[in-house]
Formats: sequence, structure tokens, C-alpha cells
Amino acid sequence: MKLLICDPTAATAIAAMREAGIEVDVRDDVTPEDLETIIAGYDAMVVRSRTKVREPLIDKATNLKLIIRGGVGLDNIDVKYAKSKGVEVRNTPSASSNSVAELTIGYLLALARQIPQATARRKAGQWEKKAFSKGSEIAGKTLGLVGYGRIGRLVAQKTLALGMSVLAYDPYVTKAEAGVKLMALDEMLPRADYISLHVPHMPETHHIIGAEAFEKMKDGARIINCGRGGTLDEVALYEAIVSGKVAGAALDVYEDEKEERGKRLLELDQVIGSPHIGAGTVEAKARVGEEVAQIAIEVANR
Ligand code: NAD
Repeated sequence: MKLLICDPTAATAIAAMREAGIEVDVRDDVTPEDLETIIAGYDAMVVRSRTKVREPLIDKATNLKLIIRGGVGLDNIDVKYAKSKGVEVRNTPSASSNSVAELTIGYLLALARQIPQATARRKAGQWEKKAFSKGSEIAGKTLGLVGYGRIGRLVAQKTLALGMSVLAYDPYVTKAEAGVKLMALDEMLPRADYISLHVPHMPETHHIIGAEAFEKMKDGARIINCGRGGTLDEVALYEAIVSGKVAGAALDVYEDEKEERGKRLLELDQVIGSPHIGAGTVEAKARVGEEVAQIAIEVANR
């Protein structure tokens, strides 16, 4: 099997694939134009989120049998089209779940105590002890999860251990772990002190948290989005924060990562954020690499 690595992939994974007899070419900074000219020479390709695998590229990939997405979301791949051309599409859905869940916990605590804001002021030489002594504990507070899948469940486990009450809205789940109460979104919104999004972005979840949802929330609720951009209406969030309805928000993902709206939100002192780093840990990358290699070796040995 001839396999092309299009995005950064763990060196251990590349070594494991080569050891198993797979011919691996590493072009992890390949441009879309170059990719179109070389793809016909490969049976398999490995991408993360950077490389887009759209119809025109698939048409040029005349020998391609396998696309491996290191990570969860398949939004950068035209999966249906690939499958219609007989190309198998695989991903590594659980490799980064714990890393995303831990980032969510970090944001819960950061929002409760305004840790990033206090740090920024200290770095600027200020000592605003009074202003930053109005935080709250997360123990005894209620977390509302939108989406109770792999990551939602891990966040639930960890927050229960921190003494929070956990509610979850997920129309496709009928049974929750002990301590987690499943309920309708409208029922959950007025009860939660924190809302954390863990749903994929699709027509059904587009702006699932928007103006109407903010209205139904408790005054002073805080929002975390370490899921997918587009599930949270950023214009409505801006308004909800400016009006004082929402006390704070933490965002790892944005409707458009390079666009102004996210930047405008981040200008608000109550909003903290990171550049889509949920899966960006040494452990998650190693697990992604391991799973990518396993898939490639399994398919090569068929
Ligand atoms: P998952 O598929 O295990 O869970 C998603 C859950 O959402 C499922 O249980 C599903 O039933 C539920 N769901 C679907 N439609 C819904 C709706 N309308 N309302 C409520 N719930 C609904 O996925 P996961 O692995 O837990 O990942 C969750 C999200 O986190 C995904 O969007 C994924 O892309 C994202 N993610 C982000 C990062 C990051 O870097 N920030 C990294 C990995 C994953």
C-alpha cells in the first residue's frame, strides 16, 4: 500500500506503518494544488483537519481506497462522495475525547474565578484583589450538557467528582450514567449555571444555543463551547453578554475561525478563548497516531 501523510502525524505512527510494510510518503505541509497533482499515485491518505478532501480531489484520486482522518470531525471530507467512489473513510473518534473533556474542566474553573483575566491584570502590573475576589465555587452548581456522547459523558464524570450537579440534553440517548439527569433542552436551560456544548455541527444543531435559548437561561449563566463552531450563535452570545444575561463564555471553537465575529466576542472581558486546541495534547496526538497506524495496517493486510 502507498500512503500519503497530508497533515502532521505522530512519528511513532509513521514508523509503525513503515515497519508493517506500508510505503509512507510524508508531505504534511502539502498545498491543495500540489495534492491534486500527486494524489493519483496513492492508495491511502492520512489527513487531520487542515487538508480538505473535496469532490474534485477525489475525482483525481483514481487509485485511492482509504482516507484516514486523524481526529473526530469529518467536515473536511466529502464522505458520501468518497464512499460512492468506493473509497473507505475512517476516523479516530475517541482518541482525543479526554483531552477535550479536560479543556472543558479548565474552562469551568477559569470562568468561575476569572483566572485568565486576573492573570492578564497581574502581568500588566496591577493588583486588583477586590475586583477578582467575587468568584464562585463550581461545587454545588449545576452543569447543563448539550450533547451526551463520548466527550459529554467524560465531562459529566469529571464534574460529578468536583461536586457539580449534572443535567444533559441529548434526544438520541435514553439512558445516562448514575448522577446525570437527562431532560429536554427547555427544561435544562433555566436550571443550569453552566451550559457546555458537545454536539456536532449539522442543520439540526445549528445555533442550538441562540437568542431564544439565552432568554430561557438563568441570569448570570456561563457558556462553554469546546464542541463545534456554528452550534452557538455568536451574535446572540455577544448581545446576551452585553445585556448582562450571560456572565461569561469560553470558546475553543468558532463559527468561522478566521472571521471577525469571534474576534469581536473576544474583545469582551467576560469572554475567554483558545484557538481550537481541544485535541491538542501530547497524549491525544499519540493516541490519534496509534489509531491511524492500526487502521492503515488493518486495511493493508486485508
Ligand atoms: P459524539 O458523537 O460521541 O457525541 C455527540 C452527541 O451529540 C451524541 O450523543 C448525539 O446523540 C448528540 N446529538 C446529536 N444531535 C443532537 C441534538 N440535536 N441535540 C443534542 N444532542 C445531539 O461526539 P464527541 O466525540 O462527544 O464529540 C462532540 C463534539 O466535540 C463533536 O462536534 C466534535 O467535533 C467536537 N470535538 C472538538 C474538539 C476540539 O478540538 N475542541 C476535539 C474533538 C471533538
